[in-house]
Amino acid sequence: MKKVLLIGAGGAGSVFARKCDLLYPLIPSLHVASRTLDKCKQIQNHCTHPIEISQIDADNVPDLVKLINEVKPFLVVNLALPYQDLTIMDACLETGTHYLDTANYEPPNEAKFCYKWQWDYHERFKEKGLMAVLGCGFDPGVTNIFCAYAQKQHFDEIHTIDIVDCNDGNHGHAFATNFNPEINIREITQRGKYFENGKWIETEPLSQCETFDFPEVGPRKAYLMYHEELESLAKHIKGVQRIRFWMTFSESYLTHLNVLQTVGMTGIEPVMHNGQPIIPIQFLKTLLPDPASLAANYTGKTSIGCIIEGIKDGKKKKLFIYNVCDHKACYNEVGAQAISYTTGVPAVLGALLMLQDTWQGKGVFNVEELDPMPFMSALNQYGLPWKELVL
Ligand code: NDP
Repeated sequence: MKKVLLIGAGGAGSVFARKCDLLYPLIPSLHVASRTLDKCKQIQNHCTHPIEISQIDADNVPDLVKLINEVKPFLVVNLALPYQDLTIMDACLETGTHYLDTANYEPPNEAKFCYKWQWDYHERFKEKGLMAVLGCGFDPGVTNIFCAYAQKQHFDEIHTIDIVDCNDGNHGHAFATNFNPEINIREITQRGKYFENGKWIETEPLSQCETFDFPEVGPRKAYLMYHEELESLAKHIKGVQRIRFWMTFSESYLTHLNVLQTVGMTGIEPVMHNGQPIIPIQFLKTLLPDPASLAANYTGKTSIGCIIEGIKDGKKKKLFIYNVCDHKACYNEVGAQAISYTTGVPAVLGALLMLQDTWQGKGVFNVEELDPMPFMSALNQYGLPWKELVL
């Protein structure tokens, strides 16, 4: 029986485990390990099928190797934080285990959002006959697969891609982040960047916005940001001329973020406080609501997709491929809000395709390099149905 070892018992990790439980026996055996054992216990209590749990510090390679050797999984799914990507990949290499994650490696003291470090593992995974699948959440993840599907089914040439991400939900807090606050704020406060005609063009953070008509939500203002899938899509979608990423934010969110940034609360460098070094953004995380705790009162929808333009059979074509997800429906299904759901469920589907040997490969892969068709079917079948609209 092929086992999965899940590392990380936060918002996305909890969805992963509870969705596996609902889909049992598709993923027949799950072991959940995380830094705080109590969070693993909470997940275990919610699951109707038996799962094993362990405490692990995923920054420590020898401890990871020991755990993997004890559990003997076919695949390690990393839903801890991007800081742990490389240690977990090292442990997978040492133990001969496949790997999947949803976010690219981040060095703790520098916001980079780039794939270089993980792409550098390609030869080592290849030599060992192992597969590492990177960025199998929603964005990155489903959005990359939408692009690969468009390339395969709908276009002879893709010219432009706009990834548009709207969370139109309401959690009742003036300021909270929908996933890990540290990673979320690092991502939003970095300089904007997009790809055009073979070059990367930088912009001031959140300095450009456009209004998009989001399906089932309506017109909303979205801000141009850098997002990690731009880097891999620019490499893998042949001939693409421009790729941009846009995300909506409420006025309240932006006002709070602005103040927090102005006073230095989003900083990632240590500062001295009463003789102790503290990292402001980590202290801010302590003050903010745990993203998982937002779920119970979250209402509204996410509407996320790709607007793709290009040529098919000599004619111009513009297509919008998207998914709409309802916060309350996610809560009713797995006790989570839609951001955790749209991250955890694609990770389950990627894991499933690896377990079934439908996705196979030797080396490190971004999801758009793999066959999009079984994943697109699985999205419809297992809770994230998508639609396409010719514009
Ligand atoms: P959370 O902060 O809710 O959960 C992270 C979990 O990882 C926590 O249980 C945490 O433990 C655990 N963890 C942190 N450090 C370690 C460590 N050193 N060893 C073991 N466990 C550790 O984050 P989310 O669930 O919101 O996000 C999970 C991942 O998903 C992140 O990498 C995030 O960037 C990514 N993501 C991807 C998206 C996508 O669409 N591709 C969208 C949203 C998120 P503890 O409980 O002790 O803090």
